[in-house]
Amino acid sequence: MPRHPDFPVLLPVYNRLEVAFARGEGVWLWDTEGRRYLDFAAGIAVDALGHAHPRLVEVLCAQARRLWHVSNLYRIPELERLAERLVAHTFAETVFVCNSGAEAVEAAIKTARRHHHARGRPRPRIVTFEGAFHGRTLATVSAAGGERLTAGFEPLLEGFDRVPFGDLAAVEAAVGPDTGAVLIEPVQGEGGVRPADPAFLRGLRALCDRHGLLLILDEVQCGMGRTGHLLAYEAAGVRPDIVALAKGLGGGFPIGAMLATAEAAAGMTPGTHGSTFGGNPLACAVADAVVETLTAPGFLKGVRARAAELHAGLARLRARYPEELLEVRGVGLMVGLRTRTPNTEVAARLRAWGMLTVPAGDNVVRLLPPLVVEPEHIRLALDTLDKVFAELTP
Ligand SMILES: *Cc1c(COP(=O)(O)O)cnc(C)c1O
Repeated sequence: MPRHPDFPVLLPVYNRLEVAFARGEGVWLWDTEGRRYLDFAAGIAVDALGHAHPRLVEVLCAQARRLWHVSNLYRIPELERLAERLVAHTFAETVFVCNSGAEAVEAAIKTARRHHHARGRPRPRIVTFEGAFHGRTLATVSAAGGERLTAGFEPLLEGFDRVPFGDLAAVEAAVGPDTGAVLIEPVQGEGGVRPADPAFLRGLRALCDRHGLLLILDEVQCGMGRTGHLLAYEAAGVRPDIVALAKGLGGGFPIGAMLATAEAAAGMTPGTHGSTFGGNPLACAVADAVVETLTAPGFLKGVRARAAELHAGLARLRARYPEELLEVRGVGLMVGLRTRTPNTEVAARLRAWGMLTVPAGDNVVRLLPPLVVEPEHIRLALDTLDKVFAELTP
C-alpha cells in the first residue's frame, strides 16, 4: 500500500520542538548537533536521578542479561523486592505495579469502587478538582474533566464530581450518598504547579473520615522525592488510603504503581485487575534502585537543601523583575514561575541559552531538575533565568 503523501508517520498528537537529544549525563543533555543543555525538565519529572545514573545503568544492564519478562503467572522476585521497599518507606500495605501514571490512577479508581462494593454498598462517585491532570485514558480524562482533554471523546466515564481546588466547603457540598472517594494531586502539575494547602489536605482527610470516603492522592508528578519528601503527603502529615505513582518511580524506565492500605484494597481479589507488562523485572529492578537511592540517608535532605537555594534565588529574581516574574510557586524541586510573557516564549529563550524547562497551565514555566542537581547547577539556572528576564524587561 502506498503511504499517504501528507499524513505524518507519527500520529500528530504532540507539538514537538525541533530538538533531538543524543546523550545525557546527570543534569546535562547533548542534542544531535552537540549543543549542551542544563536539563530542568527531566523528561517532565521522570529522570529523577538525572541521565545515565551509573547505579541505574548497572542494575538495568545486569537485569537485561538475566531475565526480561515472565508475566504475572509466576512470582516475580524483582517486583516483590520493589513492593517490600515501597511498603517499608510509605503508608502503604500493598502495591500494584503497572506501566504508567494513567494506569496507576485507573487502578486507584477501580480499587476505590471495589472497596465500597466489597463492603456491600456501592459508592462509585469520586470528587475531583478543577485544574487537575490524571492522565489520558478515558477514565482519567473523565476524572480530570476539561474541554482540552475530553472534547470529542464522549461519552465519558460517569461518576466524577469536580469542585474548585482548595475549596473544602465545595467538597463537602459535593459529597452525596453515592460518593466513595476524593482524588487529588497534592501539588497540581500540568495545571500550573499549584500546591494544595497542607491545612486543606488535612481538612480533606477529616472529611473523608467523617463520610467513610477513601482519600486518593495522585502523586504521579509530585511524588518520588520531588517535594523533598519521598511522597508529598508526608509534609502535610496526612495518611492517604491510596496513592498513584509513576514518572520519577522508574527514573526514566516506564513503570507506575498504586499504593494502598490493606483496608482500602480489600475488594481487589484475584482476577479483578491485572496488567501484562506490570511487574516487568527490568522496570522493577530499576525502580527498586531508584527508591533505594531516594531513601538512602541524607539524599532527601540534599533535595531540600537544593530546593531552599533555588527558592531563595527565585525570590531575588522575583524582587528584581516584578513585572515579568509575576509569581513563584511550588514545593521542593517542583517549581512554577508565572510570567507576563507567554510561557512557551520564556521556555524558548531559556532553551536558546542552553536550559530546558517545561510549560504548564496558567502560563507557568515549570522547573523540574533531576533530584541529583548540585549547587553549581542551581546557580547556573538562576543566572540563565536572570538573563532571560533581563531580555524581556523593557
Ligand atoms: C503525568 C501525570 C499522569 C499521567 O501519567 P502517564 O504516565 O502519562 O499516564 C497522571 N497524573 C499526574 C499528576 C501526572 O503528572
